[in-house]
Amino acid sequence: MTTPFHLVIMGAPGAGKSTQSKLLQALYALRVYATGQMLRDEVALGTPLGNLAESYFEHGTLLPDTVMIDLITDRLAQLPPQQGCLFDGFPRTIPQARALDDLLHHEHRALNAAISLELTDDQAIQRLGGRRMCVGLGDPFPVHISDQAALDDCLRRGGQLVTRPDDEPAVIAERLHVYEAETAPLRDYYQQQGMLIPVSAAGTPQQVHTTIVAALQARITSTPYMPTK
Ligand code: AMP
Repeated sequence: MTTPFHLVIMGAPGAGKSTQSKLLQALYALRVYATGQMLRDEVALGTPLGNLAESYFEHGTLLPDTVMIDLITDRLAQLPPQQGCLFDGFPRTIPQARALDDLLHHEHRALNAAISLELTDDQAIQRLGGRRMCVGLGDPFPVHISDQAALDDCLRRGGQLVTRPDDEPAVIAERLHVYEAETAPLRDYYQQQGMLIPVSAAGTPQQVHTTIVAALQARITSTPYMPTK
């Protein structure tokens, strides 16, 4: 029997959290809880939570901690005991991080690492300004306007390219500000717990992934957990 592991991935908007989450999900068979995508799904379904989320998306601000903590509490309760998970975009505030610690403890689970994808504001603005989402082909995934082959591939397979409302220029600035004010303090929080793995997000997705995996392997070699491929 293996010990499931649990990861947090954080980073400024545009740092590539969802891309790296998918790569880690495939490698370690983790369930991914991507709170931003969960909220966008609620928006698409027109639920009360979706309606609430929409008003925050417009301004690039964070939903209340209690709402997000309830959402994660609910989802984590459904995770099979032997499966690990990756939190993409949660926690985003110190109260959320404290709640996650309590929640994992209550569920007899332990956090193994908090990966922080590091990117300058200029790099984030450049990426987000050119980001489109390819929708309609399963989970939406990001495509950059500089990557013509990926854009063509999305359209050829019947997908559609859309700009996330919170990737509009005025909202991007606010999201970066919110990240610095609310989420960046989590670096210190996890550093103090000995959990922080800071990784430059500036390379290609595969380069960043390789760096993350090397750091994780160094950290978890003492556990019996084996990647699935
Ligand atoms: P993301 O897709 O991770 O960039 O998240 C998109 C938006 O969803 C954020 O700008 C927030 O408005 C909201 N959101 C996602 N995760 C959280 C969270 N943990 N706490 C509060 N708001 C969140």
